Amino acid sequence: MSDIYNQVVKRLSHIFKSVLTRQHKLLPASPSRLFGWALYRTPKGPSQISRGVSVRDNLLWEQFDVITFSFVSGNFNQHAKVLEVIAQWMMFTNITFQRVEFEGDIRISFDDEDASWSCMGRACYRKNRGQPTMNLEGIRCSTPGVDEEERAIILHEFGHALGFLHEHQSPARVDILEFDDQNIHKYYQRCQGWSHKDIEENVIQIHSTKWMGNYSGFDPQSIMMYPIYPSFNRQELEIPHNTVLSDVDKAYAMIHYARVLPHESAPQWTIAHTLDILGVQGEFRDKILKTNDAKEIRRLFTEWNSSERLGDTGGFFRPLRVATRKWSKCLRCRSS
Ligand SMILES: [Zn+2]
Repeated sequence: MSDIYNQVVKRLSHIFKSVLTRQHKLLPASPSRLFGWALYRTPKGPSQISRGVSVRDNLLWEQFDVITFSFVSGNFNQHAKVLEVIAQWMMFTNITFQRVEFEGDIRISFDDEDASWSCMGRACYRKNRGQPTMNLEGIRCSTPGVDEEERAIILHEFGHALGFLHEHQSPARVDILEFDDQNIHKYYQRCQGWSHKDIEENVIQIHSTKWMGNYSGFDPQSIMMYPIYPSFNRQELEIPHNTVLSDVDKAYAMIHYARVLPHESAPQWTIAHTLDILGVQGEFRDKILKTNDAKEIRRLFTEWNSSERLGDTGGFFRPLRVATRKWSKCLRCRSS
């Protein structure tokens, strides 16, 4: 038993040291990174969709905020798809997205010439009121119902709008997937036409723990994850294109915008269930379960998350299951 314990401690300490020493991969503390001006892109094309569970805590919304949104373009079908899909995020938060005619906090365009992107959380306030704060590319205007690809795009960009970061850029990913930067650059340049800077900032660079908030163990099923091909990483793992919220996505929404009473359509999503999913045990679990104050729940979880990062208990960096399907070369690349 003590052997297993020692091995776990050794592994955790190795991972922790390794995260700290990979400085060359950490993002520079540029003003745009520090203050969240950067736009978070999604690969183009309806079959090319990208998607932590990690958060920018200084850009999260206040508890019970009513976030208004408006459309700066698009038709009835496109608007209806957004309305249908964002209800899924609302089921797991105390946030209300409310549509207004003009100049919402979130202003959505449907420009197919541009990539999908979104401002991060409250960074939308830093944009000129006349400009969009989110673009949704590939949402078809001619079909009435939302399909899987469209749902993935909308969920992912609204994840950013809630303050969630890319999972493939989480520090928790580093030792599970070691990226082959060159292959990733080649792919995104050729298939997406992205610049070197875009690829670095949206795919490769690991978020610095200096400015990011809480993050979970690596979750390859997160909606905030881009698809990963075997040629992208030295482990040759494939992570498919995720199109629905993972349990950790839901749990992160539930804990940062705590919904003390579960939504009637998801009665199993209580705070206790959320803590089970996130592995919160001991005194922090007891304290969280004793309070009904959403602000206090976020604060206590943040304290627990920080203590876990220091390796106080095992399991935080435990990788969740990674898919290993075969990959056909450039299967999703519409330009080939
Ligand atoms: Zn994104």
